[in-house]
Amino acid sequence: MANKADDKMSRLVSLCKRRGFIYQSSEIYGGLNSCWDYGPLGSELKRNIKTFWWEAMTNRRDDVEGLDAAILMHPAVWKTSGHVDEFTDPLVDCKTCKSRFRGDELKDKTKCPVCGNQTLTESRQFNLMFKTFMGPVEDDTSIVYLRPETAQGIYVNFLNVKNSARQKIPFGIAQIGKAFRNEITPGNFIFRTREFEQMEMQYFIHPSEDEKWFEYWKGERWQWYLELGIRKEKLRWHEHGPDELAHYAKKAFDIEYEFPFGWKELEGIHNRTDFDLSRHQDATGKDQRYIDERFKEKFIPYIIETSAGCDRTLLTVLVDAYDEDPSRGEKSTVLRFSPKISPIKAAIFPLVKKDGMPEIAVNIYKILKTQFKVFYDAGGSVGRRYARMDEAGCPYCITIDGQTKEDDTVTIRDRDSMEQTRHKIAELADFLQNAVE
Ligand SMILES: [Zn+2]
Repeated sequence: MANKADDKMSRLVSLCKRRGFIYQSSEIYGGLNSCWDYGPLGSELKRNIKTFWWEAMTNRRDDVEGLDAAILMHPAVWKTSGHVDEFTDPLVDCKTCKSRFRGDELKDKTKCPVCGNQTLTESRQFNLMFKTFMGPVEDDTSIVYLRPETAQGIYVNFLNVKNSARQKIPFGIAQIGKAFRNEITPGNFIFRTREFEQMEMQYFIHPSEDEKWFEYWKGERWQWYLELGIRKEKLRWHEHGPDELAHYAKKAFDIEYEFPFGWKELEGIHNRTDFDLSRHQDATGKDQRYIDERFKEKFIPYIIETSAGCDRTLLTVLVDAYDEDPSRGEKSTVLRFSPKISPIKAAIFPLVKKDGMPEIAVNIYKILKTQFKVFYDAGGSVGRRYARMDEAGCPYCITIDGQTKEDDTVTIRDRDSMEQTRHKIAELADFLQNAVE
């Protein structure tokens, strides 16, 4: 079974490269370990996922505001948050083959799993934050960190956003942005990488309502993955037991997905209590307490956090959409993306390169591309063009044929059912709009 799963992952990885979803970073220099670049289709897919998240979490709500904080923050933030002292993994080296391991992942602590020698070092704590220097002097006073999470940018702006947006508790702040962790053992393609993009929302509430809002956000986030088109049977909840809970969390649930390499965390929903704002208040002396007419007391809000990874969501979308359908003949791969997020919404083909068909097709393409990401293709047989679009996850192929000139209709071929239906050219934009909503 393990081999079959590996095969499927490796075929997906090679499809991603071939079709321009994801490339190894700096590949012509031999690549940079666990860093990846999104190509034409991948960057479009990623943008669609982020937009889908942003709209669900901010634009369609009245109680969540957006934020885009800087990656570099005052280094004292990371002291306060505990990252400088506690954001570590146990690191073990093999003195013989120079392999490096996470101490907590080693089954046999006495023997190197790579070369088999009993030459492992004692485990030592390794901080996962990337460091750099601000300004021209490289010394301890100029150290800054690439943020290991986007959440702190939200906490330190809590009062700014509350005041400028005139929000009242309960309300949230949502942010999409890059974060960096110097992981000892990254891997599984884009599942765990050292540079990644987070989609996080922090919801500020009265402490007495934490159970209610925790349950509410659990429901919202579960529903979001279903609307993204992820198969329900591939999702499950995992509750953190007392030994798994982070020091700041009162309660934590993960949404997990069944990847070819096992059930893994997709998103965490955490009750962070008043830990973060209290720490920042203590460190800065700036009052982080909240008061309004509904609550007759000053209090530091509790925070319910929903924390998802954009790259991880994209991998989930790819894995979940990937299908090999032998009924399609030799070229049998199809990516069954939800039309909402598919990189290309429709492809437009002239059946043959004559009889005025290309002119009509180009015209339709030019009109549709003002509203949708569409693709024009006149090369090769229609069957081969369908197969190429199946691999790109394009949900609809529009073909201009002999009948088009007679009655202004075209065929739309559905990616999943492979059925073709005839439609008026004038109705194509409405058809696509309905499909992608
Ligand atoms: Zn070794």
